[in-house]
Amino acid sequence: MKTIGMLESAEPDQHQQAFLQEKRREFESRQVSEPDDDYPSSAILCKKCQTRAVVNLDNCLTCLNCGESKCS
Ligand SMILES: [Zn+2]
Repeated sequence: MKTIGMLESAEPDQHQQAFLQEKRREFESRQVSEPDDDYPSSAILCKKCQTRAVVNLDNCLTCLNCGESKCS
């Protein structure tokens, strides 16, 4: 899946940002989101970054802010 090695100057942060944005779009496309809310109203508090941005993606609790993910 990943093509590590082809891009020698890849920026992890930028890559993670893109990943999180994609995940966030994926989540928001499944339900009606609050336009005035930064994160989905169903998001819960992330214990890592202390931001209420953790959503359930395919049974994986994923933080849309820092990228912390826990699959159960
Ligand atoms: Zn977090």
